[in-house]
Amino acid sequence: MELATQTYKYKRLFLIITFVVILPLIAEESLIRIYHLEFNNKIWYSLLGTGTMLLFSTPVFIYLFRKADKTAYSLQKQLVENKEIQQKLTLTNIELDYNANHDFLTGLQNRYRLFRVLDKMTAERSELAILFLDLDRFKSINDTMGHLSGDKFIKLVSMRLRQTIPMGSQVFRHGGDEFVILSELPNSRAVEIAQHILDAFKEPFEVNNTFLYTSASIGISHLPEHGSDSVTLLKNADRAMYRAKELGGNTYKVFSQSAENEELKKLMLENDLRNALETDQLLIHYQPVVNLATGRLKSFEALVRWKHPELGLVPPGEFIPVAERSGLINDIGTWVLESACRQVKEWHSANDNLGLAVNVSIRQFKDPKFPVFVKDVLEITQFPAHLLILEITESMMLNDSESVRVIEEIRSLGIKLAIDDFGTGYSSLSKLGFLPIDYLKIDRSFTMEMLTHEPMQSIVQTIIDMGRNLDMELIAEGIEEVDQSTLLAQCGCQFGQGYLFSKPLPAEEIEITYNLSTLLKVK
Ligand code: C2E
Ligand code: MG
Ligand code: MG
Repeated sequence: MELATQTYKYKRLFLIITFVVILPLIAEESLIRIYHLEFNNKIWYSLLGTGTMLLFSTPVFIYLFRKADKTAYSLQKQLVENKEIQQKLTLTNIELDYNANHDFLTGLQNRYRLFRVLDKMTAERSELAILFLDLDRFKSINDTMGHLSGDKFIKLVSMRLRQTIPMGSQVFRHGGDEFVILSELPNSRAVEIAQHILDAFKEPFEVNNTFLYTSASIGISHLPEHGSDSVTLLKNADRAMYRAKELGGNTYKVFSQSAENEELKKLMLENDLRNALETDQLLIHYQPVVNLATGRLKSFEALVRWKHPELGLVPPGEFIPVAERSGLINDIGTWVLESACRQVKEWHSANDNLGLAVNVSIRQFKDPKFPVFVKDVLEITQFPAHLLILEITESMMLNDSESVRVIEEIRSLGIKLAIDDFGTGYSSLSKLGFLPIDYLKIDRSFTMEMLTHEPMQSIVQTIIDMGRNLDMELIAEGIEEVDQSTLLAQCGCQFGQGYLFSKPLPAEEIEITYNLSTLLKVK
């Protein structure tokens, strides 16, 4: 634009000089020469000069004025256009900026913006609460109702979140069905906000004339206790959210470093447990179950032990849950069942009436192949089915038809079933009458308290009576004192197990502690 104006200026100067000075001078000279004009009066020369000059300069000026008008007009036009482009560019930039910072579906600030805001806040503020929210059942809504309804649902959720959170807090869409709320209110109020959100979610969301319910799991982290930078704070809020999920959802959890350490310990245990089987770190101890009236051995309960190379003996209470969570329990359970059947089968050469009880975890029990697998083990080890007792817990016999099928299949093989730790789980007494259970194992907590706490004795008596009426045999767990054993026998309990008789022992020690032929203790 600058260059064009400059060139135009030079052109105009050139035209003016040519038409106003040079051409009139040449024309005047030529006229005088051609017509041999000679004037006495100088005025005539001047008039001729001026006339010639006017003759040549007038069209130039007209041309120049028009050109100038045109240029001015186009310049003006160009300027307006430039301004418009500028405005459009500014608008596009604003739009781009908005899109970069906001979620297309909900209009909420997005993950990118969250990090920028969080970075700024962590640098400037001394307190901040981060609430990480994940919907509990969004996947099933998406799967059953389709993605469009899923989108509508997310939109409604975002609107409800906006309406629910208090002033001083803002909500971001982290992605999918995850939202993050930053609260600048005092940190102590974060749980209140979380509870408020959970309450707000109790109302349904209406999508395409259908009322949908959802709940949320919320994890909370605090600046400065749970981190000083955005990445750590978000990660910790996310971890806390997973804890809330593990609790079944529809709840909130504040981040806890000690819970994380526990989790890490479990993860490390899980890694080590994977090797444990191959490197022979697992072993079995056997705890005798005795006849309370005669003191004779009835059976052994196989209890798995883990000799960890660095941690020493890890109790099953610590590693069985880890094994269950990771699925390793299936391999461990297989190994325990087979090894224990082999061992007790060996002892059958001294007494072929010895029973064997093996604990079964819910995960093994839910495996449809479990009964077939137990049958195979019995065949391989030649262990008599009627001497094998599988110990299950109360929760395993709850309502699902699959459990009932497994129980019946196992029973059809001639194997016995015991309910372990009876009285501590969620017993469904109505089920008890229908299931073919052979033994009830009265939990140690009843045995422990029945001497000191009168009502406990009545409860134990009731359990024993109920079991006997249902044709079940009773085994009391955790007997440590003679008085407990005596009282239990008086109440009608036939069998008992506990430190009073013997702690769980390795096979070699069982062999020297008991005379397996007479079924009596030798030392
Ligand atoms: P459980 O099946 O109820 O086993 C009884 C537990 O009580 C054993 O703990 C035993 O050592 C302990 N105990 C026995 N008598 C007494 C007593 O008089 N006083 C006290 N204080 N404790 C006594 P342990 O061996 O630590 O096993 C804990 C639990 O781990 C078992 O409870 C069982 O549920 C599980 N478990 C053990 N081995 C296996 C296994 O091979 N598979 C599965 N799935 N679970 C197992
Ligand atoms: Mg048991
Ligand atoms: Mg038990």
